[in-house]
Amino acid sequence: MVEESGFPDASGLILPEKSLIDPFGREVNYLRVSVTDRCDFRCVYCMSEDMTFLPRKELLTLEELERLCAVFIDKGVRRLRLTGGEPLVRRGIMQLVEALGKHIETGKLEELTITTNGSQLSKYATQLYDYGVRRINVSIDTLDNDKFTKITRWGRMHQVLDGMEAAKAAGLAIKINAVALKGVNEDEIESMMVWAHEQGFDFTVIETMPLGEITENRADQYLPLSTVRRRLEERYTLTDIPYKTGGPARYVKIEETGGRMGFITPMTHNFCESCNRVRLTCTGTLYMCLGKDDAADLREPLRASEGNELLSSAIDEAISRKPKGHDFIIERNAKPSVSRHMSTTGG
Ligand code: SAM
Ligand code: SF4
Repeated sequence: MVEESGFPDASGLILPEKSLIDPFGREVNYLRVSVTDRCDFRCVYCMSEDMTFLPRKELLTLEELERLCAVFIDKGVRRLRLTGGEPLVRRGIMQLVEALGKHIETGKLEELTITTNGSQLSKYATQLYDYGVRRINVSIDTLDNDKFTKITRWGRMHQVLDGMEAAKAAGLAIKINAVALKGVNEDEIESMMVWAHEQGFDFTVIETMPLGEITENRADQYLPLSTVRRRLEERYTLTDIPYKTGGPARYVKIEETGGRMGFITPMTHNFCESCNRVRLTCTGTLYMCLGKDDAADLREPLRASEGNELLSSAIDEAISRKPKGHDFIIERNAKPSVSRHMSTTGG
């Protein structure tokens, strides 16, 4: 049985009686769920051209994913992000969003968000809003049509831009995520930031991480964000601000545009000391750290019994093994720090 949850706080939110605390005293209150490892794009830093995906029969059903999420919520998870692969290509995905949205209504979940490449947003933006999603991350690394095709291999930029328009019209707040890529979009970061701020979007840049084998060499792609920041500072005033979204980005306000810009720096400035998250894959594997191989199988306890005691104990045991942090290295001849791709673990 799921443990009974707690009592409303002053803001009316239900506080969990229990919270998940790791061996380093960090509270784990954020779950990212990769609902599929499949995607309709093949971004060069994320996937190889010919990816092998999991056989569909290995996937947890949407009902199983929902049950797993509900147990995490009862154990103290307050924020939940659906990701992938491309979460919006999983068949029936809105069924899961609707079910999870109910936890927002009850006040047990503070926020339900999604990270998407935007290709299916025109279709789903309104439903996302109706089911309780208020903020989404849309990944786009360039606004140049040819570069977009080169980076995503299979993507069509107009579809993503139309999707963002639909999301805006539906009332969803948008954060743009762009991976900084040496020699590819480094000359565009400033103009993308200005564009994003004009649209009323937050803009976050990310350092590429050594996850999974890809066709290209990561050392050729890697651009430290210290360089990006230094270049921006030559033309803009960047003021550090304490704004937080529950994720690893550190934010600045760009005084000239009035917009917010985030920096996610897993390589140059490790953010593990404040890590509050764990990641669940579509097969029920829980990764306690994006950059480590250690994982816990939750599918077995999920399927072993109709009650949730086994699952609850397996989650506690997994959290007790959450490591202190990752140690990513990008060097010319180095193997990826972990063999699985970001699309498996969930970005
Ligand atoms: N398909 C969705 C999307 O692209 O937003 C969600 C999954 S994707 C794996 C999540 C995020 O991870 C995206 O912003 C993507 O750019 C980023 N990402 C993928 N591989 C990465 C890598 N090796 N290093 C850094 N970020 C990566
Ligand atoms: Fe697909 Fe997102 Fe990976 Fe691009 S970054 S290949 S859109 S999962």
